Formats: sequence, structure tokens, C-alpha cells
Amino acid sequence: ALIVRHRMRSSGRWARAMAILREFEESCGAPVGKLKQVAEAMIVEMHAGLASEGGSKLKMLISYVDNLPTGDEKGLFYALDLGGTNFRVLRVQLGGNDGRVVNQEFIEVSIPPHLMVGTSDALFDYIAAELAKFVATESQGFHLSPGRQRELGFTFSFPVKQLSITSGTLMKWTKGFSINGAVIPVGQDVVAELTKAMERQGLDMRVAALVNDTIGTLAGGRYFSNDVIAAVILGTGTNAAYVERAHAIPKWHGLLPKSGEMVINMEWGNFRSSHLPVTEYDNALDVESLNPGEQIFEKIISGMYLGDIVRRVLCRMAEEAAFFGDTVPPKLKVPFILRTPDMSAMHHDTSSDLRVVGNKLKDILGISNTSLKTRKVVVELCNIVATRGARLAAAGIFGILKKLGRDTVREEEKQRTVIAMDGGLYEHYTEFSKCLESTLQELLEKEVSESIVIEHSNDGSGIGASLLAASHSQYLEVEES
Ligand code: BGC
Ligand code: MG
Repeated sequence: ALIVRHRMRSSGRWARAMAILREFEESCGAPVGKLKQVAEAMIVEMHAGLASEGGSKLKMLISYVDNLPTGDEKGLFYALDLGGTNFRVLRVQLGGNDGRVVNQEFIEVSIPPHLMVGTSDALFDYIAAELAKFVATESQGFHLSPGRQRELGFTFSFPVKQLSITSGTLMKWTKGFSINGAVIPVGQDVVAELTKAMERQGLDMRVAALVNDTIGTLAGGRYFSNDVIAAVILGTGTNAAYVERAHAIPKWHGLLPKSGEMVINMEWGNFRSSHLPVTEYDNALDVESLNPGEQIFEKIISGMYLGDIVRRVLCRMAEEAAFFGDTVPPKLKVPFILRTPDMSAMHHDTSSDLRVVGNKLKDILGISNTSLKTRKVVVELCNIVATRGARLAAAGIFGILKKLGRDTVREEEKQRTVIAMDGGLYEHYTEFSKCLESTLQELLEKEVSESIVIEHSNDGSGIGASLLAASHSQYLEVEES
């Protein structure tokens, strides 16, 4: 009798766990109809954000980039990419006249933890010193025209209010960066700080362009393909930028650019809408985050958060359905212990006994001896979370295409449309990117679906920033006249 009771109890537990899973799955649902509503809501917010400063959760930031690379850029340029706890420094020799990139070299440097909690001077001094060291290694294959100052494109992957192409102030931190004490204060002009640090290091270099990583990716993408009209980053955070007609930006009071165009940094990570399939787990994640109420779209899509959503659901299943046995594995309660790359590894496990899932559960969460049945549920959960994120990202892209009128064919034109894409989530989480692409096809009419392509632009933002430094070089006008 005891055994029977035990069996019933354990089958009751299983049923309860499945009920939790199914309920979660249902609230994550993102059928095409819902995605179209999300895209419409995105378009409404795009208009509002373009109409006035602060008019929408979508900041629609003016980048001051009104010309994208043409292929004529020429000379030696540097780029600095700062977007997290690492930074990259790059130099490229641009050939001009379709000469393309003649030569390039880069280094990647991680920021020592003590500098993340120190002063912004100390952080920028460190960066400038590394930059100076890198400049000192410049050798054959790179050539600076005599009498010229070195110029740099600075990619800074956080929301910045640009005052010009060469200045801008930090609006807020995202991607949990303030965990480390927000070493650069909000409101600070990041170019001025970097410039002062370069002077302190005796490095003679000028910041010629300050750009968001989406803008850099767009510029890098356009250099290689004329059909690139937007860029999307799916990595630790998420964001998009696109080319807008200048007269469709009521809040722009400057001169109408010659090109008639202006690149907009949407900061789409901060999008939110009642149409988004947000669950109680997402609300809890948001409330406990460092930036509650902000970056809601980012929190259900991007790499920083997907693994933690999975952890939260597993934790509930453990607490309320004893999914992992009589006690709740303590590590399941540790925020961000399950990272998205580990979630991805579990999701892609093709072994018949789901060995990878078993090992990850053991190594990361301290849960050993899981049954195949349990592991299958974990994979299913990863799939639910990744699928929702990928489908919503596709809805965002569809929104941009629709805003630009690129979601339908114009018989006369038959234009190709390319979205430049970058970021670790897109690059490494295959199930995510596959789902993103197939969802975009679902959303598009058959006639256009072939002419709209997503192209992976591998670290295009570094090259892009150096290209924008080139096209905003202080020597340009001299040469042109
Ligand atoms: C930032 C954006 C950035 C994106 C991708 C977001 O958290 O707010 O500025 O483009 O991450 O790096
Ligand atoms: Mg990056």
C-alpha cells in the first residue's frame, strides 16, 4: 500500500509539474496574429518616438549619421568597441575606390574588475593606455598619411543622447552593467572623457565618430552590400537601427541632410506593449532586476535573460511539484546561475540520452541522476523560452520593414532588402536564429519573402565605426576642395 501511495504521489507531482509547464507555454504563445499586433504597436511607438523627444518608450535616437559608407573611404583608421566587460580595439587600412579593407588587426581586452567599481577616469585611463600600446605596434601594412592625426570611431553599446557625431551623453545603463557600480555616470559625455584620458596618456588621437553598436553594424553592412537598410543586435542585449527619411523625423530641427536620410538608433530593447506575451516569471525577473520597468522587450528576448527565465520556471516546478525530488536544489535559487549559452547547449543536445542536459543540470545546478523524461522537459522548456524570444525579435524586424514600406513588393522596383545582424545570441544559438528566420517568413507575404534577407555581419560594428570615422574625418573637406 505504501508503494502505491508513493507512486500516486509521484505521478501527482509529475502532473503538477506538467501543469506548470503548460501554463507557462500558453502564456508565452506568440501566434502570427499576435506578432502582427506587436509589429503594429512597434510602428505606433516608432512614430511617437520620432515625433518628439521623450514621446515614446522607444527613444528613436538621432545618430547624426546621415551618410553611410560608399566604398571610397581611404586611409588608416582606428575603432574602439566598448559594450560590456570587454573592449576591442581595431585598426583598418581602407583602400578607397572599392579597394575595400586592405588590412586589419584587432585586440580584445577584458576590463579588470576593480576598474568596474572605480572612477570613470581610472576606467578611461586604462582603455586609453591599452589603445596607446596597440597604436605602438602599428607596422607594415598600415600607413598614416604624413602630418595627419590618427582618428577613431568609438562604438559605445548603451543608450546615448548624441549632441553631434562626436559627442553624446550616457542616458542610462542597460544589460546589468550597473551591477558593477556604474563607473561612468549617467549624463557624462563619453567622448570628452575618452579624449581627456587619451591626452593624459600622451596619445595623439581624435574621436571622429561616436556610434551605437547597431549603427556600427549598419555602416559595416552597408559597406559590403548596398541593400542593407537596418541592423539588429541580438546578444547580451538587443537593439535595432535603420535608415529613416529625414523629413519623417519631426523632432529633427537641424538642417535637412544632403542625403535626405538619417540613421535612427531605436533602442528597441525598451519597447513594451500590452500585446507582448509577458508571464509572471518575466514580471518577477523585471522586479528583481537592476532596471525594473525598463528594457522589457530586451528582458524577454536577449541573451542576458533567457537562461534566467528557464531557471525561474524550473525553480517553480521544483518548489511546487517537487520536480527534482523532495528538496529544492539550492542553486536553482541563484539568479543568473543558468546562462543562455548553457541553455543553448541543452537545447541543442542531440544525444539519445540527453547527456549534455544531464551534465549541465549536474554541473551548474547540482542536480544529479535526472531521468530522461525529466531532461526532455528541460529541453522543452528551453524551446518555449527561445521560441518566444525569436518570434518577438522577428516581429520587431517585420515592424521596421513595414514602417519603411518594404513588407510588400513594388513591381517596378523588385528591390532587395538586407538586415545586417550581429550578436552572440544570433550567432551561436542556432535554434533561436532558425526560428527567427522562419518566423519572419511566416510574417511576410510570399512575393517578398525571397527579396528580404538577414545577413550575419560578423563583428561588423568595429569596421563600421572605423568607416564612420573615415567619413567624418577632419581631413575630408580639405581633400574634397
Ligand atoms: C543597449 C543598446 C545596445 C544593445 C545591444 C542594449 O542593452 O541599450 O544601446 O545597442 O544593448 O548591444
Ligand atoms: Mg558587441
